[in-house]
Amino acid sequence: MKLNRFVVMGAVFIGVLGFCHGTADASTSMVNQYIAMHHIEPVAVSKRIWHGFPKYRYRHGFKKPEGVVVHETGNPNSNIFSEIAYMKRNYSNGFVHAFIDGTHIINIANTNYLAWGAGYPANARFLQFEQVEVHSKKQFAKQAANAAYFTAKLLKQYHLKPNDAAYDGKGTVWSHHAVSQFLGGTDHTDPDGYYKTAGRRYFGQAYSMAQLYQLIKQDYGKLN
Ligand SMILES: [Zn+2]
Repeated sequence: MKLNRFVVMGAVFIGVLGFCHGTADASTSMVNQYIAMHHIEPVAVSKRIWHGFPKYRYRHGFKKPEGVVVHETGNPNSNIFSEIAYMKRNYSNGFVHAFIDGTHIINIANTNYLAWGAGYPANARFLQFEQVEVHSKKQFAKQAANAAYFTAKLLKQYHLKPNDAAYDGKGTVWSHHAVSQFLGGTDHTDPDGYYKTAGRRYFGQAYSMAQLYQLIKQDYGKLN
């Protein structure tokens, strides 16, 4: 009996620790704190739609995306303009709806139609944007603020509620990694690696999709 009670108490204790740990991760994100402390505001969305992209309906139809996929280019040597120019030339290999860096949110493809960035079946379901790698503490924080705001804005626009898909493969906010894990048709793990490396480099702490999701929820709450 005595032993059993210790086992139960131990399990409860570990459970409480696990819970605290999980909450602390999200609320003590150095990047998110920096954004709040420095009152970093997202930039406005700049619409530069290129009409050369193909127009296909989502599986539920025109204007019916089911969520947003967050990408990162994986290219440390490009900038937002070179990436956009490259995508227009090579759209048959893939394209996304928008590109984001620290100072721009550029919407290049009509979001009422699907994009080709995360394979089948995700392409027929989700809005998609790429983050271009940035190279300073401030730019990284600004990029996270822009990415969160744009995601929240798209969810609102298409009458979707924020729900992080990373836990059960169901939801409206997806990393490309989560798509690979739960839906298949692709094997990329972005933006995890970039978030981890840039977070450690500029803030001494890995950044994560779970932390970006906290910002997305905050921003969504502020939108009308
Ligand atoms: Zn990707």
